[in-house]
Amino acid sequence: MEQFAKIGDFCPNEACPDYAKLQDGQRQPNIIKSGKTKKGVQRYQCKTCKKTFTETTGTLFFRKRTPEHEILETLALLAEGNRISSLSRVKGFKEDTILAWLREAAQHGEVVEEALMAEFEVKRGQLDALWAYVRNKGEKNYPETDESGQFWSKMRRSRRATMLDMDSRLRVARGIAKNETLASIEVFKTLKRRGHPDGPPPTISDGWGGIDDAMIEVYGVVPEYSGRGRPPTRKKACQGWHFQSANGQTAR
Ligand SMILES: [Zn+2]
Repeated sequence: MEQFAKIGDFCPNEACPDYAKLQDGQRQPNIIKSGKTKKGVQRYQCKTCKKTFTETTGTLFFRKRTPEHEILETLALLAEGNRISSLSRVKGFKEDTILAWLREAAQHGEVVEEALMAEFEVKRGQLDALWAYVRNKGEKNYPETDESGQFWSKMRRSRRATMLDMDSRLRVARGIAKNETLASIEVFKTLKRRGHPDGPPPTISDGWGGIDDAMIEVYGVVPEYSGRGRPPTRKKACQGWHFQSANGQTAR
């Protein structure tokens, strides 16, 4: 399993010959402590490339395949009360992976907190709940939202398609393109990559056009409820499909 390296255990400079070389067990470490910043944050220097860096130099999620921003965003969504299972479905990460990030993030404590509060506007109380959850390791104690596995697709300004998880309100996918159909194709391509490889999930839409064309394009299936080129027929949704009109009434 991938591990978090402690800040100061390696050089984060990609151009350095000793980039990412862990210091553990090294007789001649290339990283040395180099005073502190005005705010009291430990500064380090790499003797090989002479670069200095601090605990907040984008090294939190060292050697992770997933970009740091994405990991932090996932943690932020957890802190906001989304359940791991729905995040896994929405983001396409394994639940174990998310749990591992969470446990390891807890070890970084303040640095992670700083990033989550500054970049994702996570509140102090939410973080406390998050760490309490890590300590207890009991999912029952964690405030989670229920989910039904339904999605809501929405079109904005006729070329921005958004797919939301109905219950968590998480944005699952977004497509921006020249027109509605192309934008929704982007959405379904993202869904296909992220946990819905075989077919589109149960979806409610606000009635924008292009959803059927997009599904045909991405999944190669023509849903029962409509034909190509027509807007969804709200009275004849196939099993598991519901369409919602702009006035908020759901038709089945
Ligand atoms: Zn270096």
